[in-house]
Amino acid sequence: LSTVSHELRTPLASLRGFSELMLTREFSPSQRRQYLTIIQKETIRLSTLINDFLDLQRIESGRQAYHLESIDLVPLLNEALALFSSDKTTHAFHINAPSSPLLVRADPDRIQQVLTNLLSNAVKFSPNGGTIKVEAQQQENFAVVKISDEGIGIVAEMIPQLFRKFFRVDNAATRKIGGTGLGLALVKQIIEAHGGQVWVESTQGEGSSFSFSLPIASA
Ligand code: ADP
Repeated sequence: LSTVSHELRTPLASLRGFSELMLTREFSPSQRRQYLTIIQKETIRLSTLINDFLDLQRIESGRQAYHLESIDLVPLLNEALALFSSDKTTHAFHINAPSSPLLVRADPDRIQQVLTNLLSNAVKFSPNGGTIKVEAQQQENFAVVKISDEGIGIVAEMIPQLFRKFFRVDNAATRKIGGTGLGLALVKQIIEAHGGQVWVESTQGEGSSFSFSLPIASA
């Protein structure tokens, strides 16, 4: 509760401060634009935080209903990637997936949420661009998906903590990058609820890869 109240208070203080300032003083159009941009960014940050937090609460309390179906992972990966690669970005995107269907038993909406979180982290934490690679393959009774970037990487000591709620690596490189620290906690909960696992490989300054497995749908 203390972490979440801090995370809620900071953007609220900024929204209140800038809106009061704009109500009490006259500003040039460019200053108004600058303050409104801050207000808009903080509003987006706050609503992402609240949505992620409520999603996590629902999942952790066992109130999340999973609508499991046999789904082909390959088109899901292509769609998620298409969303990111259509944004104006300095990144190159590559996919390496089997040409035949990779059928898993999963809730497509929740898997899309996992892919969006991992891809947005890959983009966010490689501020100088580089290639983002998505690989998928069958390994025994699991489909394994790996999302790699060539970004800032993570120091080895921090890796065991990454999936904790609100955990964010704090250093000069990450301080400039926004986030709530809830994305990976959500990813882990969702994948484990499907009977899969998540893991990370990373080298600081070189890049990271986040992988997850999902049980293959039995015929
Ligand atoms: P958020 O991205 O909102 O900060 P996450 O739970 O998604 O929160 O990630 C937790 C932390 O793990 C991030 O703040 C960052 O320090 C680290 N992290 C996640 N993905 C990557 C990545 N692809 N490269 C480097 N660091 C990462």
